[in-house]
Amino acid sequence: MAEFNNTNLADFSGVWVFCEQRQGELQPTVLELISEARKLADDMGVEVCGLLLGDKVEGMAKELGAYGADKVYVCDDPALATYTTDAYAKVICDVVMEKKPEIMLIAATNIGRDLGPRCAARLHTGLTADCTHLDVDVEKYIAFLKENSTLPEAQYASINKEDRNLKMTRPAFGGHLMATIICPRFRPQMATVRPGVLKKGEYNEEKANAVVVEKLPVAISEADIKTRVLEVVKEAKELVDLTGAEVVVSVGRGISKDVEKGIELAKELAAEFGGVLGGSRAAIDSGWLTADHQVGQTGKTVHPKLYIALGISGAIQHKAGMQDSECIVAVNKNDTAPIFDVADYGICGDLFKVVPLMIEAIRAA
Ligand code: FAD
Repeated sequence: MAEFNNTNLADFSGVWVFCEQRQGELQPTVLELISEARKLADDMGVEVCGLLLGDKVEGMAKELGAYGADKVYVCDDPALATYTTDAYAKVICDVVMEKKPEIMLIAATNIGRDLGPRCAARLHTGLTADCTHLDVDVEKYIAFLKENSTLPEAQYASINKEDRNLKMTRPAFGGHLMATIICPRFRPQMATVRPGVLKKGEYNEEKANAVVVEKLPVAISEADIKTRVLEVVKEAKELVDLTGAEVVVSVGRGISKDVEKGIELAKELAAEFGGVLGGSRAAIDSGWLTADHQVGQTGKTVHPKLYIALGISGAIQHKAGMQDSECIVAVNKNDTAPIFDVADYGICGDLFKVVPLMIEAIRAA
């Protein structure tokens, strides 16, 4: 590995996003990261750069520009057509060592969870995995330090631009605590970010046309790649698109009295709004719904316009995935269920009686 001094913080600049694509399709969560990177970069007065790896992927740069990237670095090579840890980690680390970004964001997809720690280890820097919130602001950072450490006051005054840190927040201890983590001594500051928690900005045609694209040379040899993908077999079944849905109707253990009927009612209610079916972990662990339906800390994070929770108690791990929904309606027969704490509208009653009435009322409206 080339000599790489990652402790001279002033050498590093820019908020970067690894732009994951699969089979030539940009992953939607990348646009959430680009939009967030734009906000962070505006606070810091630096550039947003996308890093795009693949084979003939240059065409995606425009979309990245539309959501806030100033520049897109493209590493185009047939060896990068399909993701392999070895090839991607090698190319990313080479580019990072040369260009020195201050922040590097990666979506916490299966690929991102594999790639992020590998790159961070090679770059001898830290990585906060599975973040749900990001923030960088020198003033706020100083206030945070004052509150949370015992440094002498004089030292806060000397904190300059180069010392600004990305505050990376993620759930810890099973979601009972939100931990804010910083990486004060090394660069780049790396984070994987949970898909669906950050909001995608608006598409801007002018910015799409203004994006600067720079192709970088790719130096990978046979010796760098220890694994080879022979074939990609796509799962035939259609997965539920929870994160993109405007209406989600979720079921929990409360349907256990008659699971088939409970799911049928939830589906019927969802259909009235053109929405999709979700579930609590209890519903998934019981085998009533497949894992792609799970909402919550270890499932998907959703923020639809309308979230309807049927027979879900509202455990902290479930709330972590849905509490930012625009409007929450909860049906639960226990009036002390914690789901009512986050609900805009709560109906205390048996879901098997309440849901048919809801469907009837919607149809009559
Ligand atoms: P319960 O807590 O059993 O609640 C069932 C509710 O249904 C009760 O409130 C009851 O009053 C109500 N009810 C019963 N019958 C009826 C009826 N006929 N009509 C109306 N209401 C009725 N959970 C998630 O959901 N998502 C996650 O991603 C997740 N990740 C986790 C990660 C970790 C590390 C851990 C430790 C836990 C995680 N959990 C997660 C599990 C979580 O703690 C809860 O156990 C789970 O959310 C409970 O699901 P539930 O609300 O469906 O079931």
